[in-house]
Amino acid sequence: MLPTSRALAPFGTTIFATMTRLAQQHGAVNLSQGFPDFDGPEFVKDAAISAIKREHNQYAPMPGIPSLRAALASRFSRTTALPCDPDTQVIVTAGCTEAIAACMLGLLNPGDEVILFEPFYDSYRACVAMAGATARFVALTPPATSPGVADANAAGQVHGAPFTFDPRALEQAITPKTRAILINTPHNPTGKVFTRDELSSIASLCIRHDLVAICDEVYERLLFDNHQHISLATLPGMSERTITLSSIGKTFSFTGWKIGWAIGPAPLIASARAAHQFLTFAVATPLQHACVEALAREDEAVAPLRALLDRNRAALCPALASLGFEVFEPEGTYFVMADHTRVSSRLGVRGDRALCMALIERHGVAAIPPTAFYHTESLGTPLVRFALCKRAETIDEAIRRLTSGTVAE
Ligand code: GLN
Repeated sequence: MLPTSRALAPFGTTIFATMTRLAQQHGAVNLSQGFPDFDGPEFVKDAAISAIKREHNQYAPMPGIPSLRAALASRFSRTTALPCDPDTQVIVTAGCTEAIAACMLGLLNPGDEVILFEPFYDSYRACVAMAGATARFVALTPPATSPGVADANAAGQVHGAPFTFDPRALEQAITPKTRAILINTPHNPTGKVFTRDELSSIASLCIRHDLVAICDEVYERLLFDNHQHISLATLPGMSERTITLSSIGKTFSFTGWKIGWAIGPAPLIASARAAHQFLTFAVATPLQHACVEALAREDEAVAPLRALLDRNRAALCPALASLGFEVFEPEGTYFVMADHTRVSSRLGVRGDRALCMALIERHGVAAIPPTAFYHTESLGTPLVRFALCKRAETIDEAIRRLTSGTVAE
């Protein structure tokens, strides 16, 4: 038997598969893997069924069906005020996850370095490794809290300040081998929305060191309060060095469709296409047709989803704080992160994995232990991630279970 390749062996099974399996085994309310427990809009489902019936069932063109590329190019131009040629600047991929892989495999050579912010979405690091490149990490750190382990029964707080990074640490992570930086905004798992100032400091380093920026913007429409999503591609000097990635999954609550895209300058997209053609060649034809119709009515689909996420945030954040979690209120995304130090000390467990096992086994609620998203594991050990992208009843049931068990004692 051949063992798993050296590139992939260190990563084991993804935390999402592991936690969802454990949630099912224990009959837990699943606030771990970020997928809605409801379907997206009926009109999008009808469009997919109709595309299948209309016999759109053979291979799509490798870069995506022309009507979807046209819709994506005009959406990109509308939101960024940048020109976009649907023939040379767009690829439709199997979700944003494939777009990330295509960028890494199409642009990097062994020995190249890529900057990742930690915590990171877990596939980033694996894709860097598959490309034979090396990741360098820059920490996003939460606002200072005082979890006060001494007073294990005290309540926590909901902290409004976002996770931040030290621009000097970012500059220090760049070496002559650095080729690219990956930015995820709005950010999974912290719920952070990068500000214009932060993006400007990233942009000036990209320009000074001639880096390509790969921007995962799948939560671009899922924002709270008055937070604004800014694409790094729109900053001066960045459009020619930025690939912007997004997908249908999060915006339309169809995470299982796996339709994503990459948009950027023609030479960079040509490199990503070089990988895409051999990764998947093309992605589900009828779903691409349905996506054209979905994008035509995007605002209509997004409004109720935002309202639900906002309602769930307003319910879950204070409930977690009342249990002793220090909660970092998200500015966008599907998720909320919290410091569990006080709660785990009360439960007599140590670390994020032990806390998540205790929450599943004793309280019937599944969450994600975020060390899976860290290179510097000690930064993730005090934290836990809960998903908000669930029906209101699901969130309320999780709150009921957490507040009626020993977590609340
Ligand atoms: N993006 C989802 C999350 O962060 C999970 C995707 C997956 O399961 N691979 O929970």
